Amino acid sequence: MIISIPATIKIAGFDYSINFVKHDKELQGDCAYGECSNVLRRIKVESGSTTQQETNKVFLHELLEALNCCYLDGQLTHEQIERLSYGLHQITEQFQLTFVQSEHIREVHKCKKNV
Ligand SMILES: [Zn+2]
Repeated sequence: MIISIPATIKIAGFDYSINFVKHDKELQGDCAYGECSNVLRRIKVESGSTTQQETNKVFLHELLEALNCCYLDGQLTHEQIERLSYGLHQITEQFQLTFVQSEHIREVHKCKKNV
């Protein structure tokens, strides 16, 4: 099942922008596949140079980073969040959930119309 992620989602009442990016220079500079800025209320997930499974897992990781900041005062370490994201990923894989940004679905539909 494809889960279409809108450009903005609410986390703890804040609007977090969700950006599935491709070959993002900032992320590449940090050797990261994702980033969560709780100051900018922004989540970025690399989706161009990784597998869809990796994109899914990174998205879950960054969601947990936001939840950690908003609800747990940042008490969880990055390593603990990484372990939890693997656990959640295993569950979402079981149900064949695929996270994509909503416009990616529109692109697919557009391609199908042209065929
Ligand atoms: Zn992290």
